[in-house]
Amino acid sequence: DGAPRFQRTFVHLNQGGGAIRVMQWNILAQALGEGLDSFVRCPLEALSWSHRKLLILEEVLAYRPHILCLQEVDHYYDTLQPALAALGYSGHFCPKPWSLCLDVEGNNGPDGCALFYDRSRFEFIDSVNIGLTALKIPTNQVAVATTLRCKRTGRRVCVAATHLKARSGWEWLRSAQGLDLLVHLENLVQNQDASLIVCGDFNAVPTEEVYRDFLASPLGLESACKELSQDGSSEPDYTTWKIRSTGECCATLDYIWYSRDALRVDAVLDVPSEEEIGPDRLPSFSYPSDHLSLVCDFSFREEE
Ligand code: NDP
Ligand code: CA
Repeated sequence: DGAPRFQRTFVHLNQGGGAIRVMQWNILAQALGEGLDSFVRCPLEALSWSHRKLLILEEVLAYRPHILCLQEVDHYYDTLQPALAALGYSGHFCPKPWSLCLDVEGNNGPDGCALFYDRSRFEFIDSVNIGLTALKIPTNQVAVATTLRCKRTGRRVCVAATHLKARSGWEWLRSAQGLDLLVHLENLVQNQDASLIVCGDFNAVPTEEVYRDFLASPLGLESACKELSQDGSSEPDYTTWKIRSTGECCATLDYIWYSRDALRVDAVLDVPSEEEIGPDRLPSFSYPSDHLSLVCDFSFREEE
């Protein structure tokens, strides 16, 4: 306990004119972290919900995003929804149809994706829970898509949170799920005349098909964290870093996609260094998840 927080700083690209702050974060399902993940270098006390929930809320309070997209949420109704409601957020939750959490003794229900927005900044228009399909067949992965109206600008934005199929060997399934999500989102933004932000744990590195599909989609999407690199063309070196009994995993799997014609990236939160993350990697007493939060500020581009 008392371990210091990461000292992350924003890389500023533009003078933020009333920016919208977005956070993407796979917070690590409590049942998976304690029950199935075998994070062999993380002390059990650091994995307790009583410890982790405080760090998760601290992270939200440290950056105060207007939009918060979370994966592996298995404490929505009893913890996150009430705590965030008291901080001025409204949320929607979509549980996975067959969550692995349910296999863990003493679980707190299925995990899923949650999407919260700051009620003082956004007016609610619509929210849909989406069960992702692959070749028309239902899968175990989901998305939440919420359409909001910015109270300052009047502009509409559709925000989606998703968590694609994990593990190697499933690249084809992630690609099929990604294409299904893109079709859903194309319909939503067309019907609602909204720009788009898609946050997720895609479980896919930047060379994977689903990443290329998102970059090439007719929606005109770009990945915000590329702005952290010198020439703005490469993703961070990692968004997750953990040591399981099966070995170490350091990879970029999480993304914030946005409509490049409608939105501009004003700032992106940098990623902690290897030294700061430490030799035991994540999660740890300092940080509650094996995935880092991604945070960036957007503003609406002028309409033509
Ligand atoms: P995924 O492969 O997508 O993994 C589910 C979760 O497990 C993710 O949150 C993932 O986290 C995590 N995970 C990945 N690797 C590991 C690991 N090494 N140790 C611990 N956790 C890990 O699985 P699905 O959601 O597609 O399916 C979950 C399970 O449910 C499957 O094992 C399947 O057998 C079962 N299932 C049963 C069905 C039925 O009808 N009986 C139907 C569908 C599924 P991250 O994304 O961070 O890697
Ligand atoms: Ca996980």
